Amino acid sequence: MIVTGCMGAEPEQIRDAYPNVAAITGPQAYESVMEAVRAAAPAPHDPFVDLIPEQGVKLTPRHYSYLKISEGCDNRCTFCIIPKLRGDLVSRPAAEVLREAEKLVKAGVKELLVISQDTSAYGRDLRYAASRWRDREVSARFLDLTRELATLGAWVRLHYVYPYPHVDEVIALMNGGGVLPYIDVPFQHASPAVLKAMKRPGNQEKTLERIRAWRAICPDLTIRSTFIVGFPGETEDDFRLLLDWLDEAKLDRVGAFKYEPVAGARANDLGLEIVPDEIKHSRWKRFMERQQTISAKKLAAKVGRRLPVIIDEGGAASAKGRSQGDAPGIDGVVHVATRRPLRAGDIVSVKIERADAYDLWGTAA
Ligand code: SF4
Repeated sequence: MIVTGCMGAEPEQIRDAYPNVAAITGPQAYESVMEAVRAAAPAPHDPFVDLIPEQGVKLTPRHYSYLKISEGCDNRCTFCIIPKLRGDLVSRPAAEVLREAEKLVKAGVKELLVISQDTSAYGRDLRYAASRWRDREVSARFLDLTRELATLGAWVRLHYVYPYPHVDEVIALMNGGGVLPYIDVPFQHASPAVLKAMKRPGNQEKTLERIRAWRAICPDLTIRSTFIVGFPGETEDDFRLLLDWLDEAKLDRVGAFKYEPVAGARANDLGLEIVPDEIKHSRWKRFMERQQTISAKKLAAKVGRRLPVIIDEGGAASAKGRSQGDAPGIDGVVHVATRRPLRAGDIVSVKIERADAYDLWGTAA
């Protein structure tokens, strides 16, 4: 087992807990990961056999791939230590991202999952400088990059987008074409007092307005988000405000976490009252119950419709896939009955027949 990512910057913590890991590397340390793989499983000395394809080693299944457009973050949310571990925002030039995306699509990838710490801030550090891709200059702007990614013929799914006003232009690209009508926006809370203590970016207090604007632009939009309950200083009134906000926002997919005082996070030193664990837990339960009702209604509205579904697990009579509103690993799935064999990566039209609070069931055309 090789451990990699931001926690890798503090290897002793991992070694103490898991002394048997083969190697530990820090964030973005692709070469060190490969070195550790080569050390643990040396390649055979056969010059005619090259097991690593041109596009490199991917850790996700062949039909979808994560596409990182920047690293680090200029924000300083008080519960987060990512800027400490990964530094300020460093964006990749647009042409570099597009070349990688192009290679992935050529290698069979059908869905690109755009990730970063703050996707809508993409290019700010580069002053939006253009770079040459194919026969044109592409500016390092979120809108321009997304528009070009949409030309590659794969589904493009956008994660970690903050509700800055310029995001509206990107939502307009979601009405047909390659950019999926899906947006993953980590709102984290709705109470102005809590948002202020969290130091959240992106004018978080006007989020309901933004959501209304986005749905007017793209009525089929799926909005996913994550929230933290029990942040220091969160009162019952703050929490109720969050529940009311949830009723108004009617988000499609939601994940919630109980606040954890991560070592090194400034939230621990704000002098705010700690929310006891049992209150955190009961708020988390209340939050999830409220959202379940909303999600169930949202999914029930899809019954009777025909939706494009990407297959993750194929089969001769049944398969498992995802609609355009479901990202892998974090959202729901579509259970598909089929009369012809389906393979991972196929995109099929499915008539939806049943739904619960998380998943859909249907039959492939
Ligand atoms: S936006 Fe906030 S939570 Fe996200 S990586 Fe940056 S500092 Fe952390």
